[in-house]
Amino acid sequence: MLESAEILVVDDEKMIREGCARLLEKIGHKVTLACDGIEALDLIRQKNFDIMLLDIKMPRLDGMGVMGVLKREQLDLLVLVITGFATIETAVQAMKAGAYDLLIKPFSTDSLRIAVARAVEHISLAREAEDLRRLQARSLKDIESEQSRLRTVMNAMACGVLVTDNEKTVVLCNPLVPRLLNMSTPDIVGRSAAHIIPQQPLVDMIDRVFAEEEAITALEQELPVTGSLWLRTRTAPVRDNEARIIGSVTVLQDITHTKEMEQMKNQFVAMVSHELKTPLAVIMQQVEVLLGGMAGAINDRQAHFLERARIRGQELIDLINQLLDLSRIEAGQIVSQQEPLDLVPVIRRVCDFLKPQADIKQQDLVWELPECLPQISADPGNMDEVFMNVINNAIKYTPEGGRIEVRAEREGDYVRFRIADSGFGIPKDDIPRIFDKFYRVKTDKTISITGSGLGLPIVKGIVEAHLGEIEIQSRPGQGTIFDILLPIIMEKTEENARPPSQ
Ligand code: ADP
Repeated sequence: MLESAEILVVDDEKMIREGCARLLEKIGHKVTLACDGIEALDLIRQKNFDIMLLDIKMPRLDGMGVMGVLKREQLDLLVLVITGFATIETAVQAMKAGAYDLLIKPFSTDSLRIAVARAVEHISLAREAEDLRRLQARSLKDIESEQSRLRTVMNAMACGVLVTDNEKTVVLCNPLVPRLLNMSTPDIVGRSAAHIIPQQPLVDMIDRVFAEEEAITALEQELPVTGSLWLRTRTAPVRDNEARIIGSVTVLQDITHTKEMEQMKNQFVAMVSHELKTPLAVIMQQVEVLLGGMAGAINDRQAHFLERARIRGQELIDLINQLLDLSRIEAGQIVSQQEPLDLVPVIRRVCDFLKPQADIKQQDLVWELPECLPQISADPGNMDEVFMNVINNAIKYTPEGGRIEVRAEREGDYVRFRIADSGFGIPKDDIPRIFDKFYRVKTDKTISITGSGLGLPIVKGIVEAHLGEIEIQSRPGQGTIFDILLPIIMEKTEENARPPSQ
């Protein structure tokens, strides 16, 4: 509400001018005085007024003349015409020409106060209405430009994007969606997702994100669409400020090329491994025959070279086996046979097997394992491979005379296996990368140590397939600690051991 208006009082009668000024200033308005139309217009051109009290009959330029100039020059202010009975007709014309109200002389202080109060309220309302109109116009423009920006972004995306409301009706999508999902029609906005999406697994996934009880953040799947077309789909709920699900958004990514490469790689690895492994096994057998003296006596020199050939051959077989393992892990086939397993004997066997290697380097390989540990659910062959790799690494990357300790203990719902060495350690920047395929840390200490960089990716793949975790702490020059956490099989409590009641 306008509290204090700028008011111009224009009248050739001094008494009226000053009487108006006194009253209006008393009620908080700012008043300027003019004694005729010419003076009034000069003032209006210099300064903004909210209201003008304008006498009709004045020398030089009268009220109607002023109204005419206001209109011509588009000067915007609210006019209250002051008129005597003699000029009332002219005053009515002034009203028609745009004056807001009229005061008939002689007027009381109350009628002046009321007329000005009404004019002030009118101005306030008009300004509020204008503010609202501007706000509305701006937000409509904002919405429009926001929508066009969104459309441009969505249309430029290399992925399909499909948005539904909480009724699972499609409210937004880009042109890639009907193409990727091989739909019969491109007009899918406004239609039920269940009716227009031909792939039932995707419909099911959209249904699942609406199932509040699962508290899903996003669901992913790989989806065969037509002959060779494969998609990776990711569906997430859209929530309002109060976390209620108000819709879903699905992103479709064409992974056909990746799938083809994966298939080719798997075929290649399987083929190469087979083609290499079979002849290599024959060569190894023949080397063993020669070394065992079954083809005639051999001298020490010959035995030395044959032994070197045997070691290199074995390394090659190990590498091929690692490649095969890795391609099985990547195909999700690593856990072949899970069974309840006590890992203590498995680790003891691995330590016994590796002890001679540690002895050669005069290292202390010690294992302190509890008599019994809670069982885990695992494939014994896989577990053998995990501990063989990690303990073997500890020996390989620890200098002569160092120490390697292997421990195990229960920790909540997990068993923590700790392999700690006093070796070369791993620089901080390399730690996140040592689980990458073929990644090997190259320092002057480790450069001469042979390896494939496949051991730890295999360990990670196996541990994760058993729902476990790996933690590493390492300090260059001081040593490394590998912690492997594997979940315990739920022990039988009285509650769940009881046979079901009839
Ligand atoms: P590699 O066949 O090279 O041993 P891994 O995948 O088993 O391959 O290990 C990857 C790299 O991690 C190794 O090359 C080595 O640099 C580093 N590494 C693994 N274990 C240890 C350890 N106990 N101490 C220091 N470095 C290690």
